[in-house]
Amino acid sequence: MADEALSGLDTQTLAHVFEHIEMAVVVATLGREVVCMNAAARTLFRYSSEEIYHQSTALLYADQDDFIRLGQERFNTNADDTNEPYVVRYINAAGESFQGQTSGGLIKNAQGTPIFFVAIIQDDSARLAAEETLNRLHLITSSRQLAFQERIEAILELGTSHFGLPIGIFSKISGDQYMIQQVIHPENALEAGMTFELGITYCSLVYQANDVQGFSHVSESEIVTHPCFENFGLEAYLGVPIFVDGERYGTLNFSSICPTRQFIRQDIEILRLLAEWVGHEVALEQDFKALETAHDQMEVLANTDSLTGLASRSCIEQALQDQITFALKYSKNLTVAMMDFDHFKSINDRFGHQVGDEVLACFGELVSVMGRKGDFYGRWGGEEFIVLFPDTHMAGVCIALNRLMDSLKRTDLSEKYSGLTLTLSIGVTAMSLSDHPQSIVQRADQLLYQAKALGRDQIQHD
Ligand code: GH3
Ligand code: MG
Ligand code: MG
Repeated sequence: MADEALSGLDTQTLAHVFEHIEMAVVVATLGREVVCMNAAARTLFRYSSEEIYHQSTALLYADQDDFIRLGQERFNTNADDTNEPYVVRYINAAGESFQGQTSGGLIKNAQGTPIFFVAIIQDDSARLAAEETLNRLHLITSSRQLAFQERIEAILELGTSHFGLPIGIFSKISGDQYMIQQVIHPENALEAGMTFELGITYCSLVYQANDVQGFSHVSESEIVTHPCFENFGLEAYLGVPIFVDGERYGTLNFSSICPTRQFIRQDIEILRLLAEWVGHEVALEQDFKALETAHDQMEVLANTDSLTGLASRSCIEQALQDQITFALKYSKNLTVAMMDFDHFKSINDRFGHQVGDEVLACFGELVSVMGRKGDFYGRWGGEEFIVLFPDTHMAGVCIALNRLMDSLKRTDLSEKYSGLTLTLSIGVTAMSLSDHPQSIVQRADQLLYQAKALGRDQIQHD
């Protein structure tokens, strides 16, 4: 008698036992018909007891293959006694599917005879979606291939898909100006660079609160009268401030013209995390840009002669080496000219050192205006200059240099300081196969001296 009482565990008793426990519990017969669904399960699946009792549990599976598979693995009388939880996609009475973390299996009576199946289900959609989003965020932020803008784009995409809000914006706010930095918009109605008055944007609410603001149905919320709704008509909005190095920078926000589901704690946490990463990326980019600018400035300083603005000695030496290598590799010409001002000492003596400097600066300007792109002019030292003419024949070089000498004689300086005549002596040599930097410079120098010796204001070449 006692044995029978134990084995005859009836469904009403079961329903009573499970009704008020927090987890969703579904009990089914060995034929997989629902005999008990507790209050939590009825809420989760949105069925009343009358609707679901005696229906096949197949009704609860979003994918019928899962129903069949789990029948083979779990919900049969020969199944192992495993309690390993698994995740499966369920569907509720309203046709909405969700991921459920499930444990359960056979219930046996005291004799070990299977009498029911039980499943204890937890709606895991939010947790799993958050986990998936975090994984994707990790991939984005740890990818070395992505440039700054691509990372922001990927974060915006991640946000739009996670929140189910199709518009994603990364904004910068300066004073009362709201400027779109990057945006994802399904109809491309917004683009980077667009500026709005902060006061009419939803983000003004984020700035006021200095924290996350979320509205899933604006026309039914307290902000329905705010100018943002009138101006943009977005029914759903979720935004957060972005901080860069502790300073408020702008916002990250996602929105839709349609109302959406209620935002949950996890949405807010994820939004904060995305904004933190955007802030981090901006800080990195700013540091990188600052470094790059400093580097560029240093490079310009190191490579430029400050008086003439032409390449410095070290820079032009490197260029000479590079040009020789290039010319040899591709069997090209390289012609090199060494030039020196005539009687510069006497210019200094007659007009003053200051005017001598002015002459050199003027020469630099003249060269930058007249010099052909691709030719390298450098200050070799004092009032001596070197020019590299890649892929140019001697005749062409001489034409260019004669033109330069002519222009030099007719600068404004000759008018400004009467009696100031500017002439150059120039030695020009063509590179041969056995040349190296020193041998070329040496030959050009010798030709320059010849030009001096032969009366100055002339070109000597080989
Ligand atoms: P030459 O025709 O033989 O070249 O006569 P030169 O007087 O030009 O003689 P040299 O080339 O040997 O001397 C160059 C002079 O140019 C010496 C130096 O005082 C002057 N000089 C060199 N660098 C500068 C500079 O940066 N500014 C000024 N004002 N003068 C310089
Ligand atoms: Mg000189
Ligand atoms: Mg000299």
